[in-house]
Amino acid sequence: MTSPQFIDTHCHLDESSFENDVEHVINSAREAGVITMLTIGTTRESSERAIALAEKFDTVFAAVGIQPNYVAEAKSGDWERILELAQHPRVIAIGETGLDKYWDYSSLELQADYFDRHIELSRETGKPFIVHNREADTEIVKQLQGQAKQGQLQGVMHSFCADQKTAEACLELGLYISFAGMVTFKRNEELRTIAQKIPAEKLLIETDSPYLSPHPMRGKRNEPARVALTAQVLADVREVSLEELASQTTRNAKGLFNIPE
Ligand SMILES: [Zn+2]
Repeated sequence: MTSPQFIDTHCHLDESSFENDVEHVINSAREAGVITMLTIGTTRESSERAIALAEKFDTVFAAVGIQPNYVAEAKSGDWERILELAQHPRVIAIGETGLDKYWDYSSLELQADYFDRHIELSRETGKPFIVHNREADTEIVKQLQGQAKQGQLQGVMHSFCADQKTAEACLELGLYISFAGMVTFKRNEELRTIAQKIPAEKLLIETDSPYLSPHPMRGKRNEPARVALTAQVLADVREVSLEELASQTTRNAKGLFNIPE
C-alpha cells in the first residue's frame, strides 16, 4: 500500500519566517507526502514572490491577489500587475480575497470592491478564487450570492471557521470548504461537527502556514508538512481512514485547481 498523498491548498511560503530554510520546508513536506503546495499571494510583491517559488519548485503552485487587509495600501498599478500575473502558467488560483471585519486596515467598502475584482478575474481566467473570511459571514455570503447571478462561481472558503449556516450557503453556491489547523484545537468541537457534514467531494485541507499550527504543535511556526495532522482529525470525525481522506481531498484539489498530473 502506498502512503497517503496530500495537497496543502493554502500556505504562505514567501513569508519572512521561511526565508532562511524554504527549500528545507518544501523538501520535508514532500517527505511527509505533500505532493503539491499552493502558496498564496497577499500583495503585489507577495504574489510575485509566490510565482518565483512556483517557478523554482515543481511541487509548488501560486495564487495571486491582494488580501483584504492590504487593499488600502495597494499602490497604483498593483492591481494591473495582478491581472498580468494571473496569466502565468504556474498560477492556478486567484486570491486571497474576501472580507475581514476583525482588523481595521481597509474600509469594508474597499475590501468589497477588491473582492468583486478578484471574482471577476477568476471568471475571466477560469482559475478559482480563494476566500478569506474573518468575522464577515453575512456580508461575504451576500456578496457571493450577488456574484453568482453573473455566472457559476468556482472557489474555496479557506481556513473555514464560520457556522453551519454559512457552510450551507457556500456549498449551495458550489464552493469548496477548506479546513486548517483550527479544526484540530480542543475547544473547536462545533467546527468539527460542521467538518463532519461537508460533502466529501467539497472538502479541502490546508495549513495556512506559517500561521495556525495544528495541535499538538500549536504556537510553533507552521509548515506544509503538518497538513497531515489536520487530515487525521478530519478523518477521525468523518470516520474514514487517513488514506481515504487524503485521496479524496487530493482528488478534490486537483479537480478544482486543475493541477496537472
Ligand atoms: Zn492565507
